[in-house]
Amino acid sequence: MVLYIFYKNKRNKTSGFFFRYNNGIINVMETIIRKVDKNQIEKEVIEQAGRIIREGGLVAFPTETVYGLGANALDEEAAKKTYEAKGRPSDNPLIIHIADFGDLNRIVQNISKKAMDLAEAFWPGPLTMIFEKSDLVPYGTTGGLDTVAVRMPDDSIARELILEGGGYISAPSANTSGRPSPTTAKHVEEDMSGRIDMILDGGSVDIGVESTIVDMTTEPPMILRPGAVTKKMVEEVIGEVQIDKTLLGEETDEAPKAPGMKYRHYAPKAQLKIVQGTLKDEVNAIKQLAYEKTKKGKKVGVIASTETVSRYTTGLIKTIGTRENQSSIAKNLYKVLREFDDENVDCIYSESFSVDGIGSAIMNRLEKAAGHQIIDAHEIASKQKFRRVVFVSKSDNSRGPMAAELLRNQDLIQEYEIESRGMIVLFPEPANQKAEAIMKSHQMTLEGHETVAFSEDDLDEDTLVLTLEENQKWKIVTDYEYVKHVYTLSEYVEIDKEIPSAYGQPLVEYGKSFEILKEMIKKLAEKLNEEAKK
Ligand code: AMP
Ligand code: MG
Repeated sequence: MVLYIFYKNKRNKTSGFFFRYNNGIINVMETIIRKVDKNQIEKEVIEQAGRIIREGGLVAFPTETVYGLGANALDEEAAKKTYEAKGRPSDNPLIIHIADFGDLNRIVQNISKKAMDLAEAFWPGPLTMIFEKSDLVPYGTTGGLDTVAVRMPDDSIARELILEGGGYISAPSANTSGRPSPTTAKHVEEDMSGRIDMILDGGSVDIGVESTIVDMTTEPPMILRPGAVTKKMVEEVIGEVQIDKTLLGEETDEAPKAPGMKYRHYAPKAQLKIVQGTLKDEVNAIKQLAYEKTKKGKKVGVIASTETVSRYTTGLIKTIGTRENQSSIAKNLYKVLREFDDENVDCIYSESFSVDGIGSAIMNRLEKAAGHQIIDAHEIASKQKFRRVVFVSKSDNSRGPMAAELLRNQDLIQEYEIESRGMIVLFPEPANQKAEAIMKSHQMTLEGHETVAFSEDDLDEDTLVLTLEENQKWKIVTDYEYVKHVYTLSEYVEIDKEIPSAYGQPLVEYGKSFEILKEMIKKLAEKLNEEAKK
């Protein structure tokens, strides 16, 4: 039986009263939440947190990678509580965090010269090393292994807590097992409220993906999990290192060397798929996938970058960071995945990112979150002959916008940008009122339309240009260089009729133009759909 009551009081923000019914005894757990300023750490708060750890309790705290769920690493019972709070399989070992290099030799055996050099180069920092464990370390902490993972974090709150908590704090990421790792105290609260004793809120973390893990018990040492310390950085210090084959996405029956890497970690609730190819193909493929799913009534999430975000129109679109600075992507990755959870999307499509530097960690986490479902962007994008349809009339105020609006109202299996242009447009004007009256009588509207002059920008390999009259086609063909996809509408849809301009004539004439356009646009939609099926 589990029952939550939430309340807040003024001094200590407290959330989630958690009553657990165990063997007839009701356990009441109240999670204390305290803000901590990295630059001015309140001694009293750290003392309280340290005391909880020493007494066998659980305290979540910020590190430079992600928030950790801290417990006394030398206390088997505390390890049990950690697994229980996270819902983590107990064969998935914990990393022991230390704050003083001198504390290392009490928990490990055989510290190699290479390990010393790596510690010298990257500690404190986002690097975890695996050693043979000493007898001091309980099997409860190492998931039954004779080896132990150790890291010295750089975050000042983490360091003070470790020292105050007895020097050895096991700290897996402070999320429910299977959810994206927490990068803010709010994320921890979402998952752990009522399940742990305390949360230290030190704001957003710096890096956003978990530490690099290097197994120092093999020769050469082996990277088991990519992180902010890259293979290249490690090799610059100690020479050749191997990389766990299972990380490279190659087909293999072997289990990953780090037990935790086999679980479908870091996962959002919705099915995530990574779309991979050239950036242009990725964008076009995601647009198409989002369009198809949305048509089927699904709520679609799109993971875009600063460079591409403006290209998307369909779905719930989130920017994960800029391709110019991969660290920004690492920092936002889990936050974005959690946001999609909050918004209850049905599926998520993500662009893929460079595997340079921290990029290998980003793509590793993203691929795991996607359960390795990767879509070939080229396969989808190359099916699209056109991505844009532009109707060209004389002044872009009646037949052109009518044609565009008619096409937008067709059932198209591909998403197109549909626009209209005029050969003679001196300044922007709204649509002709009679044209609008006709459209209204057919439950459509030209409201908001503004006339735009045709220009060279309307000619490219992705754009189908359809003129309403023969003379507009010839003017374009003679005046411009790139004229590969320029047709008259009548010629393209093979309906040998003129579409008369009704300008200056009574409403009925507009009605006649509309009827001809309607017939042609219906045929156009059929033709475009045929093309898209190929
Ligand atoms: P987390 O605590 O969530 O960052 O996950 C810790 C990761 O370190 C998991 O993937 C574990 O499998 C891995 N790990 C911890 N200890 C060992 C060890 N002794 N040998 C191999 N991997 C380990
Ligand atoms: Mg984790």
